[in-house]
Amino acid sequence: MPAADNTTQWVTEKFSSSIVPTLVDYIKIPNKSPMFDPDWKKSGHMDKAVELLSSWAKSNLPDGATLEVVRLGDRTPVIFIDIPATGGRAGDTVMLYGHLDKQPEMTGWREGLGPWTPVIEGDKLFGRGGADDGYAIFASLTAINALRQDKRPHARCVVLIEACEESGSYDLPAYIDHLAPRIGDLSLVVCLDSGCANYDQLWSTTSLRGLVIGTLEVSLLTEGVHSGDGTGVIAASERVIRQLLDRIDDSHTGVVKLAELSTQIPKQRVLQAERTAQVIGDEVFSKFPLQPGVQPVVKDNTELILNRTWRPGLAITGADGWPPISNAGNVLRPSTSLKLSIRIPPRVDPKVAQAAVKAALEKDPPYGAKVSFSGSTASAGWDAPELAPWLEQALDAASQAHFGKPAMYMGEGGTIPFMYMLGEKFPKAQFCITGVLGPGSNAHGPNEFLHVPTARRLTLCVADILATHAQQ
Ligand SMILES: [Zn+2]
Repeated sequence: MPAADNTTQWVTEKFSSSIVPTLVDYIKIPNKSPMFDPDWKKSGHMDKAVELLSSWAKSNLPDGATLEVVRLGDRTPVIFIDIPATGGRAGDTVMLYGHLDKQPEMTGWREGLGPWTPVIEGDKLFGRGGADDGYAIFASLTAINALRQDKRPHARCVVLIEACEESGSYDLPAYIDHLAPRIGDLSLVVCLDSGCANYDQLWSTTSLRGLVIGTLEVSLLTEGVHSGDGTGVIAASERVIRQLLDRIDDSHTGVVKLAELSTQIPKQRVLQAERTAQVIGDEVFSKFPLQPGVQPVVKDNTELILNRTWRPGLAITGADGWPPISNAGNVLRPSTSLKLSIRIPPRVDPKVAQAAVKAALEKDPPYGAKVSFSGSTASAGWDAPELAPWLEQALDAASQAHFGKPAMYMGEGGTIPFMYMLGEKFPKAQFCITGVLGPGSNAHGPNEFLHVPTARRLTLCVADILATHAQQ
């Protein structure tokens, strides 16, 4: 049974009168993840964001619920909310997860928009962190409040909002250990930090990629020299780095060469990719802000979906050792550093992948160059456990009720390290991983937006899923 009509109306009003205005304030806070703001403690933005979200949550707590901002030593804080059951099996707990740390600014924001400048245009709320993942705490509590309003029972729920996700969740395992007795035994995890392939139905994430990142530095000189003097005598550090990158991927195809970074794709996931390709068609690539005439790496949409979800891929996300172009003299620079970000498929061991990347880059340096791959971290991907029939039915019914279309299943190319951790800790738990990161929403890039109607419908879907869960 979906929400009563007046409850659906109540959720709509809650979004327009309270949630969106609070998200507007939230977007103004530059609370970048600790990796991008190592001084986060001193700069105080994270605390401001925690204060804003937790004070909204406190004034919207379901009856009997408690909220605590938990802080372990110097770690980034987490918001932990404990909501007593109104039904379901005794001892059964659902976790609803999201994060409040943000990606850095990134360049290329459209005129009038900016990461810390909230702008509402039609259905969209532009700005950093609204969709990824500020809305999660609002959606979680509003879903439960909607159930309470309709007197639809739900099991005990805990809401966990972390502040380290965009840095690989390195603070989270300590909190999970610390909170374990208070979390209890999870039978369902609802994660609201994922994507959707359109805004027309409920999308459930069946897999996530992992991530190996690190800085590759190549140096042949102790200081820069006149390029007229040095070129042809000493190799340029950027040319050596090109050779080293060729060990990771094929620059003509983008195919990653290291066997340790690949896996056999399960048959069922290939079938899901085929079905998704049928539903979304060219949207797989046309959703990107392409320059005129740009083509995707292959023509086959199913292959593109598999590339994005079950195959490794390299991106270079930053560089040092280069002056800005306006200040570039004719110099053979002493060193070049690149930040490498390598997505790895689910089922690939991140430590093995990380070691393989380091070994490939550092072995036999051309010309005896000084080469290092350092500051590296590795996060595991995740492959969903088999969906319980009740959850499959609940997802579909919720999608039909609030979107008017069936639920869909798709892997995602991004990384949520916590899902792997939870899967290991709670092997019997079911997972509902979903989110609002759909076409154009551009989390991590410029012009990020939250599609407000999707966030609202998703909130109602979560309520229905929790209601069905309590009947099991
Ligand atoms: Zn996120």
